Amino acid sequence: MSDVFVDLVGQDDAVDTLRRAAAAAADVLRGTADPGAGMTHAWIFTGPPGSGRSVAARAFAAALQCAHGTGCGRCPGCHTTLAGTHADVRLVVPEGLSIGVTEMRALVLRAASTPSGGRWQVVVVTDADRLTEAAGNALLKAIEEPPPRTVFLLCAPSTHPDDVSVTIRSRCRLVQLRQPPASAVAEVLVRRDGTAPDVAEWAAAAAQGHVGRARRLAADPQARERRAAVLAVPRRLTGVGAAFDAAAALIAAAEAEAEAAVAESDAAERAALQTALGAGGTGRGAAGAARGSAGQLKELERRQKSRATRAQRDALDRALVDLAGFYRDALTIAVGAPVAPVHADTAELAGAGAQKWSAEGALRRLEAVLACRSAIEANVKPRIAVESMMLTLWRG
Ligand SMILES: [Zn+2]
Repeated sequence: MSDVFVDLVGQDDAVDTLRRAAAAAADVLRGTADPGAGMTHAWIFTGPPGSGRSVAARAFAAALQCAHGTGCGRCPGCHTTLAGTHADVRLVVPEGLSIGVTEMRALVLRAASTPSGGRWQVVVVTDADRLTEAAGNALLKAIEEPPPRTVFLLCAPSTHPDDVSVTIRSRCRLVQLRQPPASAVAEVLVRRDGTAPDVAEWAAAAAQGHVGRARRLAADPQARERRAAVLAVPRRLTGVGAAFDAAAALIAAAEAEAEAAVAESDAAERAALQTALGAGGTGRGAAGAARGSAGQLKELERRQKSRATRAQRDALDRALVDLAGFYRDALTIAVGAPVAPVHADTAELAGAGAQKWSAEGALRRLEAVLACRSAIEANVKPRIAVESMMLTLWRG
């Protein structure tokens, strides 16, 4: 089976929903739809990082444009949508600046026109969490009074108000993607990237279901090094001083990783904004324009700072998930559970831990890692949460 949903790894429920909606949408076009039969004009795709939010939105867009109404993957509607060349599908991928109000208004206007292919006008916004407030309002207006043939597909990490405004959320139907199983991730690495099966299996298990992370682990030596450093933590915990050192090292590594991840786009965004604002005029209204640009720069800095904070939290959380995997392995070995380890390459070390700590000790340590994640999520300062966790990992 190679229809448009084939790359949605391990998302059977979401794919079911989208298939039904595509069929209902085809009924709408034929004029045979039951009112409320599963098709709506605004959708929001959420899911953990790496679960395939934009893949899902694009596949659904293709299914809406499919000549057979199914997302067959073979007709021109499916092909051109997936290739990004369908005249009635607009993909908004914010590169550089966040999505501004001017761009959004133009987009909304064009999306209101009659679809040239006779089916739907589809607008895919891949990072709806990066809309400016004004752009969000322009989008909301369109979603509140949708033109009859227009469909909005938004992608965001979650429906938390930081990501998507509550009013937009309330107008959208939600498709929640889940963390795909390792076997499904390994399969897609082999099929799509040509990764060797044993490497794919290792990376998928180590990434614990994160498709992009599995792909990075399979291809990027630096990602493998960072993971190895995290998994060396249990070995390094030999005393109170070592525990505090390990906490500081873990936080510093997360900061460095986050900085590397956002540095390039930060600089590019700033340069793009400065170019867009020009060198400043001398005519009437120049003062007002200058005030406006100061505001835009400030807004950009605010967004970059919040993105940097999020990138740090993400990097730290990835490290904690890796660490949790190690203690989970120790626990399963201690209780003799017949399951495969998360980290095959540190299974021996986890086995030694299991002997030393027994099941109770391994469980206490696993719980300490999970408690650290929850604490950081609840806005406890990362350093305090991580130090407390390291002390428990050392003492048990
Ligand atoms: Zn098709």
